[in-house]
Amino acid sequence: MSMNTQGRPTGTGTSGYAATSGSSLLPNEPLLFEIGDTEHSGVDLPDTTVGDEYLGGFARKTPLDLAGLTEPEAMRHYVRLSRLNYSIDSGMYPLGSCTMKHNPRLNEKMARLPGFADIHPLQPVSTVAGALDLMNELAHWLMTLTNTAAVCLTPKAGAHGEMAGMMAIRAAQAAKGEAHRNVVLVPESAHGTNPATAAFLGYTVKPIPARADGTVDAAAVKAALGPDVAAIMLTNPNTCGLFEPQIIDIAAAVHEAGAYFYCDGANFNAIMGVVRPGDLGIDAMHINLHKTFSTPHGGGGPGAGPVVLSAALAPFAPVPFVRDGQLVEHAEAGHLGRITAFNGQMGMYVRALTYMLSHGGDGLARAAKDAVLNANYVKSRLGSVFSAPFAEAGHCMHEALFDDSFLDGTGVTTLDFAKAMIDEGFHPMTMYFPLVVHGAMLIEPTESEPKQTLDHFCDVMLELAADARGGNAGRFTAAPTRAPRRRLDETRAARQPRLKWERPEMLPQAAE
Ligand SMILES: *Cc1c(COP(=O)(O)O)cnc(C)c1O
Repeated sequence: MSMNTQGRPTGTGTSGYAATSGSSLLPNEPLLFEIGDTEHSGVDLPDTTVGDEYLGGFARKTPLDLAGLTEPEAMRHYVRLSRLNYSIDSGMYPLGSCTMKHNPRLNEKMARLPGFADIHPLQPVSTVAGALDLMNELAHWLMTLTNTAAVCLTPKAGAHGEMAGMMAIRAAQAAKGEAHRNVVLVPESAHGTNPATAAFLGYTVKPIPARADGTVDAAAVKAALGPDVAAIMLTNPNTCGLFEPQIIDIAAAVHEAGAYFYCDGANFNAIMGVVRPGDLGIDAMHINLHKTFSTPHGGGGPGAGPVVLSAALAPFAPVPFVRDGQLVEHAEAGHLGRITAFNGQMGMYVRALTYMLSHGGDGLARAAKDAVLNANYVKSRLGSVFSAPFAEAGHCMHEALFDDSFLDGTGVTTLDFAKAMIDEGFHPMTMYFPLVVHGAMLIEPTESEPKQTLDHFCDVMLELAADARGGNAGRFTAAPTRAPRRRLDETRAARQPRLKWERPEMLPQAAE
């Protein structure tokens, strides 16, 4: 392959992007179509010898009009784009509820082994014994860590795992002749996917109010239980960063009423290796491999949300699953059918198992404890200035929750505060979630941040808080000023997305 190096001048001029002047501000990166032209190419293709007779008269009459670039131009475009990303590899990512932890490179190395990476999903099962063994081993770890009887690995996100688990609950109830149970209890602090899952499956959602201390009241659950209740969907530790102290009572009451206990396990990072959810009485729980087990996430995937099932629900697990080293692909007896094509996210399985094996059981417990320690360090350093809604709860688990009352009268909102964090080089924390807290700021440092980073983060947060309370609202309402983009009209972007490049001359003239 030869490369066309007759590129147009870079810098300014025809190339479309302005030269940087050593500032850390990134230039606005134009689209490939704006940098490239039809005269250049990174590849030399032989002239086609296929005549029109092969194409049934459909040969293209007009040029393809693809943007051509030389190989270095194409590479530089993507590298520059990648620098517009904020990522866990470039800085702290304190998003509560998301567990944005370091993804060890060892995981990547293992996932790229050709024996795993190059498997074709339609390959004969007899040729992929190693991959099946890996799935079996991962299933074993997940069941051991949770003390459960079965696991369905295939769901491709936490929300998908919720759906699989709730479908197993529905199938179990139908098998008992109790298909009439049509209500699912969901605490008000739940992640939106919980009520969405229940509603998607046709259940009526009955909210359970949060107690003043941010946890769920067993008495409120008991009062809401009845012959029409199919299940409760409860998150533990919950989205306020608190361990549900009455979880065992709640599980017992739910079972006594003939319902099942779905646990949202997205926060398993805080208790893995320390608490086995099966011991607390849960019947089904999804595990976000892309949160707890350090597989990458963000930007829409890939994710993996295996769902573990109790002995009562195991006979209803969706296929496929690995049993005694054999892949069970076809639904038998009460098993649900498939919920995904093929066998799920193999690369994520490899990464997650690599993480587990490299930590060992004791290492996972240590990671959970360090995650809790780091969150409490942040909570205690910020706690003298930032207002905490459930102060009486004392310690938190893996995430520290604050509200916006410390900003009262400053003219600065949680959103403004988050935007100002971007100017200081930090990704904002989770905002306005959980919904039970006004102007919520949910900070999850995870175990993989060193003390120096936590201190720098806390110093910046305290400096920002002091400035907001000192009357400098302008800094916040104008932020971000140092990011490649300012505040976007997210509603308009969602409602009128422009996903396709059009030649400027084809665009409708702007109304003057
Ligand atoms: C992330 C999360 C989910 C959903 O998981 P996805 O993988 O994003 O579908 C559900 N519940 C809680 C508490 C979460 O944090």
